[in-house]
Amino acid sequence: MAATMSRPKLVSQVVEQAPENDLTPGQLSLFENLVYAICREDAEVNQANAAFEQLKDRFFDFNEIRVSTSREVATCFEGCSEPRTRALRLISLLQDIFEAIFGFDLESIAKKGAKPAQKQLSRYKSVNDFTLAWIGHRVFGEQTIPVDSGMRRCAGRLGLVEAECAKDTEETRVALEGMVSKTKIDSFVGGLQMVAQKYCHEILPDCTNCTLTKACPESGKFLPPVPVKVAKPKASKKPR
Ligand code: SF4
Repeated sequence: MAATMSRPKLVSQVVEQAPENDLTPGQLSLFENLVYAICREDAEVNQANAAFEQLKDRFFDFNEIRVSTSREVATCFEGCSEPRTRALRLISLLQDIFEAIFGFDLESIAKKGAKPAQKQLSRYKSVNDFTLAWIGHRVFGEQTIPVDSGMRRCAGRLGLVEAECAKDTEETRVALEGMVSKTKIDSFVGGLQMVAQKYCHEILPDCTNCTLTKACPESGKFLPPVPVKVAKPKASKKPR
């Protein structure tokens, strides 16, 4: 088991796991960031980028996606976890936005500023804490950290947050926001998502190959279940 590392050192180690260049597409509009956040939640940056590109390539526009079946849309998310759920979320988001403004141009909402925009967007069923924090940081430059379920699990195991705190997305986000400087947020998110998706699986994390294994107090605690030997039934004695 690794010796307990201080949280600032752990944060630095997580930041170092991020891809060298931030591959997250820049210059996205508020609407595009909402769509991208659905691709990026519980995914690595490459997986999210591939899904985002597929959505733009395979469909004429976002209105076509809105009226497509979840099965058709899910094909764009094939490299990500739970493609059908993501497709349903995206269609629901597009329907909610279209019903509200008869289009997808959210720039008038963006102009209202972070808090009013987030309040308005939070009414959409597909918008969750991760989405709002993603928008807050990427669109409005706020000191906030989008936290998905993989990041939460990994942060708890690493000891970045207490185990109890790691059960709740909002609590984990608030705790992490106090540890990571604004300029490091993108690398921190990219690094923690990479470790969570590649190694720190919910069941049987791959601690042996994990790039944070030396820093992690939980490393090696997740052993595969030992197969239980089933005793053979004794042969019954033949009646004389
Ligand atoms: S060492 Fe294991 S438990 Fe720790 S972060 Fe890596 S995969 Fe997760």
